[in-house]
Amino acid sequence: MSQIAIFETVAAMRAAVAGWHAAGDKVGLVPTMGALHEGHVALVREAQRHARRVIVSIFVNPTQFAPHEDFKKYPRTFDDDCAQLVAAGADAVFFPPVEEMYPAGFATRVLLLGPAAVGLDDRFRPTHFEGVATVCCKLFTQSQADFAVFGEKDYQQLKVVTRMAADLDLGIEIVPLATFREPDGLAMSSRNRYLSAEHRALAPLLHQVLQALAARIRNQDPLFQAVSEAQTEIISAGFELDYLEARHAQTLAPVTSLADGPIRLLVAARIGATRLIDNIAV
Ligand code: AMP
Repeated sequence: MSQIAIFETVAAMRAAVAGWHAAGDKVGLVPTMGALHEGHVALVREAQRHARRVIVSIFVNPTQFAPHEDFKKYPRTFDDDCAQLVAAGADAVFFPPVEEMYPAGFATRVLLLGPAAVGLDDRFRPTHFEGVATVCCKLFTQSQADFAVFGEKDYQQLKVVTRMAADLDLGIEIVPLATFREPDGLAMSSRNRYLSAEHRALAPLLHQVLQALAARIRNQDPLFQAVSEAQTEIISAGFELDYLEARHAQTLAPVTSLADGPIRLLVAARIGATRLIDNIAV
């Protein structure tokens, strides 16, 4: 197996990036929490379309998990992740220990408004996005990358990070990439490996319901009724529904009809102990 550079310190990553920049190479960053799948690899390939050098960060970020969430048991598969990244031709992995990212005395969070406060995931995970934004802000400044690629799979996160990068003049471009799906439509996710066979069979229903709902909205069906019937379908199938909503694709503000602007349908639902999210454009 060929090798990939593994940086565990900010200093080591910065030195490598400075060398690449000095050689005139663009540098792309792909932030992840590891347990990589084909969706993550697609982000690496997208980064490679824009830059000669690509760094993938692997960091299960404690500040974005609430105490009752799955931080401790979040899948950690570093060797397999590295094998996938070698195969994809990534240049380096940034794999910092928690103390490198949050040394003793760390006491800062990014305060978010706008797309982070619209009553979607923020309603169910109230401290999640400040943790995401804080770690992304650090990764951006630590890496000095020219751009970072984020998946539309985490649509609200994409909007939050894009807003933050612009608002704080972080000097990094955020490049979005469409959601990678299993053949049956289920959005790929590191958390899919938690699903039992029975729940895995049920999981693609979320995407099917979103697609049918999008078709109804495009056909001018009354939006409120169509959304409410889609919610009922998900609950009847055995999910615990956090939300299924039609929102403005850019601002994430509530919409009442197709006339309100481009619409994004977003869903979060739990099946057993696993929380799944998905979204599509109308
Ligand atoms: P995670 O490791 O789950 O925190 O995700 C790291 C990055 O991969 C984020 O930008 C996600 O949006 C992106 N991502 C995760 N799953 C997918 C997918 N199925 N398709 C595209 N991007 C994804």
